[in-house]
Amino acid sequence: MACEILDFHGPHAAPLLPGHLILTWYQPDRRAPRIRVVSHTCECLPTTYELCSAAGQGFVRRTDRDKQTIHETSWTLSAVARHTFEQILRGEAR
Ligand SMILES: [Zn+2]
Repeated sequence: MACEILDFHGPHAAPLLPGHLILTWYQPDRRAPRIRVVSHTCECLPTTYELCSAAGQGFVRRTDRDKQTIHETSWTLSAVARHTFEQILRGEAR
């Protein structure tokens, strides 16, 4: 599946690689009144991943439209969250 305007839609998460890291996903925990989406994957797929920033921390949020569930990783340093997001994009973590 490909999108014509990638910049607008955001990248697709690559297929999972063998031996990928298994992330722990938690129920959303609204610890901050404002959550900013820094980057997100393409919304044409049923599962989207968003790199989020809030209260000086970062985390990745996963939205599954088919199951209608939202989960997020633990909140951590922004740089660590970005690394996790990039691992998801490369199929190295999920
Ligand atoms: Zn797409």
